[in-house]
Amino acid sequence: MSAIRRFCRATKLGNLLIITTVLLCCLTSPLAAAEPIRLQLRWLHQFQFAGYYMAKEKGFYREAGMDVDIVEGGPNAPKAIDSMLSGESDFAVANSGLVIAHMQGKPVVALAAIMQSSPSAWIVLADSNIFTPLDLADKRLMLLPLPESAELRLTLLREGISLNNLNITNASFNPQDLIDHKIDAYDGYSTNEPFWLEQQGVPYRLIRPREYGVNFYNDILTTRTTLIEQRPEMVDAFVRASLQGWQYALDHIEETVAVIHAQYAPNKSLEHLRFEAEAIRELVMPELVQIGHMNPGRWKTIAASYKELGMADGPLDLEQFIYHHKEPVDYSRLYALLAASLLVLLLVGAFALRLARLTRRLRREVSARIEVEHELLKTNQQLEKLANTDRLTGLWNRLKLEEVANIEIRRAERYDFALSLLFFDIDHFKAINDQYGHEVGDQTLACLSELLQQHLREADSLCRWGGEEFLLLMPHTDLSQASSMAEKLRSLIANTPITPEVSFTASFGVAQWQKGQNLDELIQQADQRLYRAKALGRNRVEAGNVTVVASTQ
Ligand code: GH3
Ligand code: MG
Ligand code: MG
Repeated sequence: MSAIRRFCRATKLGNLLIITTVLLCCLTSPLAAAEPIRLQLRWLHQFQFAGYYMAKEKGFYREAGMDVDIVEGGPNAPKAIDSMLSGESDFAVANSGLVIAHMQGKPVVALAAIMQSSPSAWIVLADSNIFTPLDLADKRLMLLPLPESAELRLTLLREGISLNNLNITNASFNPQDLIDHKIDAYDGYSTNEPFWLEQQGVPYRLIRPREYGVNFYNDILTTRTTLIEQRPEMVDAFVRASLQGWQYALDHIEETVAVIHAQYAPNKSLEHLRFEAEAIRELVMPELVQIGHMNPGRWKTIAASYKELGMADGPLDLEQFIYHHKEPVDYSRLYALLAASLLVLLLVGAFALRLARLTRRLRREVSARIEVEHELLKTNQQLEKLANTDRLTGLWNRLKLEEVANIEIRRAERYDFALSLLFFDIDHFKAINDQYGHEVGDQTLACLSELLQQHLREADSLCRWGGEEFLLLMPHTDLSQASSMAEKLRSLIANTPITPEVSFTASFGVAQWQKGQNLDELIQQADQRLYRAKALGRNRVEAGNVTVVASTQ
């Protein structure tokens, strides 16, 4: 990390990079403030709503970004569906009568059915003669109003009992009436009143609607259509957290019972809550069915049952009524991916920028170095020229000629070429100096060099050996050819006055290189012949045995 920071600091993009990273981290982190959500229960706090308490207790709602207020229902509380539809609450727990509201055209949606079977049951005393719904026809019944009593009424209807002639006693919500024989059958919940009767030591019997083909869902988590349209992700998150809470509650009954007793229903004993828990577990059937599961076929049957009871006759649109879980869109992963891509992009960008800068610097350095090398080469060439050239005449000096001559001797030796040397010297040069001055003498030497260069072959090397003495090295040239060249030059010098006043001659010694001879020996031989030319009267060419041209003197 510190390496990245160092790198960031080194680039101008560094700050931008850090700001972007922080922003992205904020974006991808869970929302800081939880959203207040209200859940309206359909009855008093008890194990019946255990999943919601545990979703809150275990932080499932909080993780989904919600702060859920669980509001209990009861005889005096508004109906859960009405509270939810009016917007007083966001979600509600209703019974299967919810489908009636739907058929009446109310915008309700069933999100999850917690109990796969209803706890509604006829409770009768064990010593009564009531065993089946048929036995209830002429009995005193304590029956809740519709739609709560829908399943119980249906069991009667299915047995051919007319609902119009029932002997119904108003609901007292007091099972003591059963013990006191004020009523013969009590409309209760298998999860609740049986505990109380057991506590009293009163034997009882349950007549369950599902045993007579009436099997309703119970405790339906619901919300209004508009909320799903406006906040689909929130609704989905709430359903998932609630079902997670239910799974937890049923897996940890003892812990859940303790939480409910401590925080929600202190008036219900732990034993009562435990009893309720076991009874509800049987109805939720978590081992057999995924918690909350709803089957359209069953809803169709339930809706038809309500129609049969004359409670609803509107259209049933199961597509609309049953909530379809959306595959949760995992935005956090998308954000994380986005953040990672942006980070990589910025890093690559910063790296590319740095690379571009380095490349530019490198290019500048390379071209500067090339320039320096060029200069150096030029200087070296100038130095070399200076070292090899005679300053007055611009001809090669003795050093250079020796170098070239040695190379030529080696070539001549290896390839058996002819190689010849002219050694010539201006005649009576001293007299020119004496007569016209040293400066004219210098000019004479320079002019002579220029004149000679115009008449030389490219392969020949002319050198000022010293003073007014010159050497001409001629590769691929034998003694005879060299002598002819000497004669040509001699004649040229003698017939070309430097100025109208100044003219002079030169004497030549010619030698051809012999196998085994070194440069000194070759020069010495040419020098001897030059000496002889001088001795024989100057302005002439001497080439050893080869007599070339007689003196023109
Ligand atoms: P010879 O025919 O025997 O060669 O007679 P010479 O006068 O040419 O020869 P000598 O060796 O007696 O004299 C050479 C003269 O050349 C002497 C010297 O002053 C002159 N000399 C040598 N180098 C230079 C030079 O660079 N410039 C000028 N102006 N004179 C030079
Ligand atoms: Mg001389
Ligand atoms: Mg001389």
